[in-house]
Amino acid sequence: MVSRLEERSLAELRRSVAGGVLGPTDSGYDGARRCFNALVDRRPAVIVRCLDAGDVATAFDFARSRGLEVAVRGAGHNPAGHCVLEGGLVIDLSLMRRVHVSRDARIARAGGGATWLDFDSATQAFGLVTPGGVVGSTGVAGLTFGGGIGHLTAQHGLTCDNLVAAELVTPDGAVVRTGGDDDDLVWGLRGGGGNFGVATWLELRLHPLERVVGGRLVYAGSGVSEALRRFREVVARAPRDLSCQAVLIVDDALQPVLSIAPCYTGSDADPRDLRELRSAPGLVDDSLRLHSFLGQQHVSSSSYGEDRNYWKSHFVRELTDELIDELLGRLASLGQPPGELLIESLHGAPRDRDGNDGALGFRDAAFNISAMAIWQDEALDMPYIGWARETAAAIEPWAVSGGYVNYMQADEPIDRVRAAFGAEAFERLQALKRRFDPDNVLHRNQNIPPGERSPAGSSGPLGSRG
Ligand SMILES: Cc1cc2nc3c(=O)[nH]c(=O)nc-3n(C[C@H](O)[C@H](O)[C@H](O)COP(=O)(O)OP(=O)(O)OC[C@H]3O[C@@H](n4cnc5c(N)ncnc54)[C@H](O)[C@@H]3O)c2cc1C
Repeated sequence: MVSRLEERSLAELRRSVAGGVLGPTDSGYDGARRCFNALVDRRPAVIVRCLDAGDVATAFDFARSRGLEVAVRGAGHNPAGHCVLEGGLVIDLSLMRRVHVSRDARIARAGGGATWLDFDSATQAFGLVTPGGVVGSTGVAGLTFGGGIGHLTAQHGLTCDNLVAAELVTPDGAVVRTGGDDDDLVWGLRGGGGNFGVATWLELRLHPLERVVGGRLVYAGSGVSEALRRFREVVARAPRDLSCQAVLIVDDALQPVLSIAPCYTGSDADPRDLRELRSAPGLVDDSLRLHSFLGQQHVSSSSYGEDRNYWKSHFVRELTDELIDELLGRLASLGQPPGELLIESLHGAPRDRDGNDGALGFRDAAFNISAMAIWQDEALDMPYIGWARETAAAIEPWAVSGGYVNYMQADEPIDRVRAAFGAEAFERLQALKRRFDPDNVLHRNQNIPPGERSPAGSSGPLGSRG
């Protein structure tokens, strides 16, 4: 419960923001504090639902003056639950979801709280897309700033490769606009997460696309292992018109089931790559068809706030036979369905970029493999979390760089965050952090601590804020 003094403070805050303010006794508070991961159950002192940059600055100011810790909420999907905190202030962007499309410039400007469903619906009205996430309720800003792997990765790169500009409110209340490929902040936002400020909008480059061949191919029984090898062979040819993800689960009898989600955008009526996937052994369901891109965005869905989740991922340079056997073995090791193993192929357009284009450091990886423990019973927390950790440890011998920041839990050590970028990029990110958030107000994220200030007491080698 908030105290009387806090009630007065909340009333004052309510008068100062154009959006809304939710305290623990307000209706809507419980819904607003819920995040995707039911493992995270926290009660903030106040949630500020911002409408514009002014509201974000007011929220920062209020938090500073009351000594409150800050969390930032886009669409609440980060599995670490960084968007909510115990006793502090949440800057909630869920009212800022407008997406404006400039058809001729092929740019979309998305509000800081827009979801992929908001974004795709707006851009598809003009027959345009950017490569985003595969679940419509995920946040555009959160996903973009951590990288962004999805149905169009092979064709158009990571989502952050398509980020061209953003407006941020920094913790001291300043509004910073940025843009252009030579801009250091844009470089940092391409992978560096929400470390530098709260984005009130971001702009993404668009590409023409209306229809794709997509859906799912499901394999069961003894064919699964061979089908996974076929997936590996197809993506090894690095087709530019086919993005492809694979998911391994087990059925109730603990037998492996493989689900492959291709997204083909070429013009061939009977493409060789899809033919080969379809002819792999063990195919039990084939829902591939020509449909709209919005249809493809409904191939994957997810519950919100119902399941407990613990994810741990590794980028790998290859999917060897030994690794495939290891993955299949790990699926049954819990003795009950553990959740899933997600294998995202990174072939194609992501390779066109390098460390000069963005902060993230996994351009050399062939796949991102994630052990995603998913369960509901609180009593099973330890075995499920243990399964994800042990499975990730089993993948580690094949790993390159750190894990994928978008899938990291809050307990990842800083070394893994640093490794996700590489030492040089991490130092450059730290210099940006010193420039935009020197007190590390924004630390509820895959954190880039500001590190040591330069001896002269300046804000670092990058000079003053631009
Ligand atoms: C069901 C599900 C599906 C997913 N699918 C994909 C996928 O296909 N591809 C992929 O790459 N990732 C995917 N992810 C991971 C997802 O991209 C990250 O977890 C991302 O952080 C989610 O952003 P959000 O706004 O939804 O989450 P939130 O929890 O609200 O935000 C996470 C963090 O992002 C930062 N942030 C969010 N918005 C802003 C903003 N406007 N300004 C500054 N910082 C901000 C903040 O640090 C915040 O704490 C998925 C996650 C889930 C749960």
